[in-house]
Amino acid sequence: MDRDADVIISGAGPAGTIAAYHLQKSGISTLILEKSSFPRYKVCGAGLTHKILSIMPFDLSPVIHTTIYSFRFSSGCNDVFTRTSGLPLMYCTMRDELDAFLLDKAVGAGARVMTSEKVTELSQDAGGVLVKTINREYRSSFLIGADGASSRVARTFGLNTDIEWGMAWEAEVRSRPEMLDKYKDTVFLDWGTFPGGYAWIFPKKDHFSIGIGGPAQMARRMSEYYKDFVASCGIPVVETISNRSHPLPVRTKKAVFHSGRALVTGDAAGLTDALTGEGIFWALKSGIMAAEVIKERMDGKISDLALYSNRINTEIMPEMMEAKNICALFNAMPLRIHHWVRDNERVWRAFGKVLRGERSFNDVPSAFGKWQPLWKPVCSLASVIQRKKEKKYMKNA
Ligand SMILES: Cc1cc2nc3c(=O)[nH]c(=O)nc-3n(C[C@H](O)[C@H](O)[C@H](O)COP(=O)(O)OP(=O)(O)OC[C@H]3O[C@@H](n4cnc5c(N)ncnc54)[C@H](O)[C@@H]3O)c2cc1C
Repeated sequence: MDRDADVIISGAGPAGTIAAYHLQKSGISTLILEKSSFPRYKVCGAGLTHKILSIMPFDLSPVIHTTIYSFRFSSGCNDVFTRTSGLPLMYCTMRDELDAFLLDKAVGAGARVMTSEKVTELSQDAGGVLVKTINREYRSSFLIGADGASSRVARTFGLNTDIEWGMAWEAEVRSRPEMLDKYKDTVFLDWGTFPGGYAWIFPKKDHFSIGIGGPAQMARRMSEYYKDFVASCGIPVVETISNRSHPLPVRTKKAVFHSGRALVTGDAAGLTDALTGEGIFWALKSGIMAAEVIKERMDGKISDLALYSNRINTEIMPEMMEAKNICALFNAMPLRIHHWVRDNERVWRAFGKVLRGERSFNDVPSAFGKWQPLWKPVCSLASVIQRKKEKKYMKNA
């Protein structure tokens, strides 16, 4: 069979482009098929936790707008306090810039790209993969699904099981210039207003991104929450540039992430964490893993892509599942945790260490010392409480 590339990658978000970059660097040819034309706006807060730097093979500073040292916390839009770290916790960018930058890196490494090329149909057999787009057909030995939350690759190959849906929306807004000076190193975070969700403000170089995220069933209360949050945050909105929502796929259990010659990465694999909605780090991490496993397969060191599912299940899913536990615990007692972060130096330091990648969600249960055996049962109870709170909140809507 004539091949257009060794590997076709559907989607040029972070998962797809980092996979292409690594594959090309190891001598494997790639073709990225992307439905949009680049650069394109992407509904996303584009907050990068510091831990991302540890997995990037190149410097991201050309697309970083702001570096975050402080968090201004509020609970239910009240009870405000600010905590500051001596070390950077996060970086804010815009996704049109970040994604175009990552795509340039992939192209620089030798990847071919076809934009405005929506993938419409997929099939595979023992010999390879056939990808149909709105324009023509392409063939390859392997396929990476990096096509986001509504992934056609995941749907075609039945790789979209056990996903709980969140919803988030993002407004890009302008305020008075002095507000950006004042808050250029500060993220606003309001939690405890509605169960399972939170609101944020990320400062960008010339505007703020204001977002609300939470379980999809809470979506119809998000606009009301947005208005309350904006009214209380002290940043006057003088212009709303855009205001759009997008689904957040949260994988709840270990699963199969490959099928024959295809595998799924990032949002296509449901890899956003239930606690924060962070997905860019996981998109990059799974994209890198995809490239590593396909390289091993092409070198004949392994006979199939099962290693990819194993690696996601051992290196990523435990974090996803612990994030869900912590989310439930938080929602069972939001005000108490809000006050812990305010009053307890150790808790604030732990928060910073997780963002910096010095600790992970998996380390949280061990912080409870002799009470650690109670962690799982307490989290199960907390998730029951969370569901009840969600129902009550929606009933009172
Ligand atoms: C409102 C909101 C705020 C968020 N804020 C943050 C944040 O601050 N930090 C963070 O880490 N995460 C955040 N996330 C999550 C983050 O946006 C995603 O997890 C991340 O974009 C996943 O990257 P990806 O490469 O897997 O997919 P995507 O970035 O979604 O890229 C998928 C690409 O595939 C293309 N595509 C789709 N279908 C096809 C097709 N059929 N054919 C060809 N191409 C196709 C799309 O055009 C797109 O370019 C947020 C999400 C939302 C909704």
